[in-house]
Amino acid sequence: SNKPKIVVLGAGYAGLTTTKRLTQKLLPEEAEIVLVNKHNYHYESTWLHEVAAGTINPNQARVMISDVVNPSRVRLIYDSVIEVKKDEQRVVLENSEITYDYLVFALGFESNDFGIKGMAEHAFAIEDIDSSRFISEHIEYQFAKYNNDKNATDDSLNILVGGAGFTGVEFVGELVEKVPELCKKYDIDRGKVRIINVEAAPSILPMFDKDLVDYAKQSLEDRGVEFRIGAPISECTPEGFIVGDDQELIKAGTVVWTGGVKGSSVLEKSGFELTKGKVNVDANLRLSGEENFFVLGDCSWVWNKEEDRPYPPTAQLATQEADVTANNLKALLTNRPLEEFVFKSKGTVASLGITDGIGSVFDDKKLRGKLAAAMKKVVDNRTLFLVGGMKLVLKKGKVRPF
Ligand code: FAD
Ligand code: NAD
Repeated sequence: SNKPKIVVLGAGYAGLTTTKRLTQKLLPEEAEIVLVNKHNYHYESTWLHEVAAGTINPNQARVMISDVVNPSRVRLIYDSVIEVKKDEQRVVLENSEITYDYLVFALGFESNDFGIKGMAEHAFAIEDIDSSRFISEHIEYQFAKYNNDKNATDDSLNILVGGAGFTGVEFVGELVEKVPELCKKYDIDRGKVRIINVEAAPSILPMFDKDLVDYAKQSLEDRGVEFRIGAPISECTPEGFIVGDDQELIKAGTVVWTGGVKGSSVLEKSGFELTKGKVNVDANLRLSGEENFFVLGDCSWVWNKEEDRPYPPTAQLATQEADVTANNLKALLTNRPLEEFVFKSKGTVASLGITDGIGSVFDDKKLRGKLAAAMKKVVDNRTLFLVGGMKLVLKKGKVRPF
């Protein structure tokens, strides 16, 4: 056909939301829409720390794409993107190729180890469903092994987490829920298991006000988390992290790196100019100078003019970028002016296990404890609602109303 072809790469928050909005805003004859994703499911990347700790089932965090996108409106291709050849308007996939008139690049994040020696080889990372499930299975295996293998040491029960940003802290928050359960299941004394979170900066969660940070730290310490603050990790060995000026080796049977993220490695492979592993986009979220090439979500570097720094990569940001991009694609197809992207923060909440959390919402109102935990579940359910409506909330939601 001679309809313009819009190709969306990635079915995370950015890509899936763009695709859904396009099906709502465009008539079928206005454009052909193609969605490319590695798997036939979308996953809630904001729930991956729970998958990694084993506090939720991986299936709760994933949704079949064909259940939330109409396959008769959108051509669905389940394949891995290898490279984008921008000059030829062509995308190379593992098993085929596809051309486009308009491209939305939304392949999301990958773990960033900043080149720390041994990290890629010896530490787990929370990146997608498979890598997160691998962590919970590995932890459980360490516990199962403990009473049955002469080579198992007390260190093998330790869980070491590198980086106390959102992901690291939310992950140890889940571990304090899971570890007692595993201890019971495998006849192990809880006192034998250490959960250690190492952070280079002088504080955990530096984006929150000090009183909230102090609350979070105390709450997690009370439940058995050890924090090592101001302790940069310089290397990861098969035994654990090497930390601090005195090069102390902290040993653990499970070592997880949560020290940061960058954009998809496909960006680099495609030869784009990158800023900290991401594409610096213009006010319409396009590659500068390109009419038809949008970069969204964790692959984009978007400047916050008010605070003179880039926006942190979040699901909230990715979803809002998608809404504007769908509008702008419609505008391009109908020769109307494009809108500029402006982020409207709805606040931030971090969970500290199932019934605790901290948050800063509604113009800096602070939340802590059960209220923050409840707010986090509301946010999680709202995200599900945006992906698949009330039906999905009832099926996979965090608080079951029935
Ligand atoms: P992603 O969600 O990473 O989606 C990318 C999609 O592309 C995936 O479907 C992936 O399978 C697919 N893909 C990747 N590579 C390829 C390829 N080569 N070929 C084909 N398909 C590919 N943000 C918040 O706002 N609130 C939170 O509470 C929150 N909690 C978080 C908790 C954790 C544990 C983590 C890790 C992140 C959290 N974030 C949170 C951040 C948020 O998850 C990300 O900012 C968001 O996922 C970015 O969305 P995205 O669509 O850009 O990418
Ligand atoms: P991050 O970059 O926010 O945090 C990484 C942490 O690791 C930092 O505190 C950093 O100082 C530390 N670190 C880095 N190198 C280190 C080293 N060598 N030794 C010790 N510590 C080191 O990364 P993240 O937590 O993965 O979060 C990624 C993005 O996802 C963020 O933008 C965040 O806002 C978002 N996110 C949001 C939520 C939420 O809203 N609840 C949850 C998870 C992630």
